[in-house]
Amino acid sequence: MINRDDLLAWLNELQNVFTQNKAYLTDLDAAIGDADHGINLERGFNAVAAELEKSDPPDLAGILKTVAMTLIKTVGGASGPLYGTLFLRAATVCAGKDDLAPADIVALFSAGLDGVVQRGKAELNDKTIVDALTPAVTAMKTACDAGADLNQILHQGTAAAQSGMKRTIEMQARKGRASYLGARSIGHQDPGATSCFLLLKAAADIWVR
Ligand code: ADP
Ligand code: MG
Repeated sequence: MINRDDLLAWLNELQNVFTQNKAYLTDLDAAIGDADHGINLERGFNAVAAELEKSDPPDLAGILKTVAMTLIKTVGGASGPLYGTLFLRAATVCAGKDDLAPADIVALFSAGLDGVVQRGKAELNDKTIVDALTPAVTAMKTACDAGADLNQILHQGTAAAQSGMKRTIEMQARKGRASYLGARSIGHQDPGATSCFLLLKAAADIWVR
């Protein structure tokens, strides 16, 4: 089961991961966007850490709601409201729960994906976050239904997100800033799909059982 401390450990790891990958994500965004994706996420998750320290929400849903609001307020760009929505939907899955079973974790990311799709209206192969998150959720559901434990579920999800991320290289962007480039967006890995892979990988790395 994933409890409050585990959730906070993941969020702390996301601060580390997005600090370490700030230049990488920003370089990817420099090729097909405006060179701020890494800067945006580092700023966002630094603000999340500060806000959680200050407000210390008692329950899982409160923590995730705080993450959502802080990302929406501080990240800006396209990715702020999208990741904000992901965490807001994740919060609703945790309502009234003190710990999360593997199936709850899958439901959390699945609800997050639904939120991202509703908010951003991206379809598969539009070269966005959705191209990493959709295969990840599918893989996690399949693993969960087959009775896999949390480690296996998260590793399958991360592997699928990584493949989806790599597939964005050959895609032409149809949403967000990269879409302005038309066919010139082909040949570059999508920054948002990359940050989404890193977000899942952080959970797989930190929630080792
Ligand atoms: P901005 O493009 O406003 O500078 P960021 O650089 O932080 O914002 O984020 C860019 C990423 O946002 C893209 O690489 C893409 O993955 C993601 N993105 C953009 N539009 C959408 C959308 N409608 N749905 C899902 N993801 C999107
Ligand atoms: Mg950008």
